[in-house]
Amino acid sequence: MRITRNAIATMAGPSAWFTGTVYIDPVAAPSAASRVQASSVHFTPGARTAWHTHPNGQTIYVTEGVGLCQRRGGPVEVIRPGDRVFFEPAEEHWHGATADRFMTHLALLEVDADGNSATWGAHVSDEEYGQQPG
Ligand code: MN
Repeated sequence: MRITRNAIATMAGPSAWFTGTVYIDPVAAPSAASRVQASSVHFTPGARTAWHTHPNGQTIYVTEGVGLCQRRGGPVEVIRPGDRVFFEPAEEHWHGATADRFMTHLALLEVDADGNSATWGAHVSDEEYGQQPG
């Protein structure tokens, strides 16, 4: 038996990138040989990302709770455990928890040649967040 101990502290999501309280656990970090980055992201009720894009796209895979996501110009969509969402490269979007449930997803992407994972924009307003899911 071999146990690999969990050694990296949970980080709070920066307020420039998120509304509400979000915690991030690193799962995989880019290295010289690999651009893969993976995180487990924990959203408290009402918490969500700001609008943003990813240079090479992103997959999120919901593991707990009930969440919401939206691409610019599309309806708000409800996402549940086992659902996965791919956001195209440069597709503007946000993701987060519903107002009354926690939501956790794995986030998987490839950083660009400079190590950037995302470009961040405006926060998702309460009006945008409160739209009835499509
Ligand atoms: Mn994203």
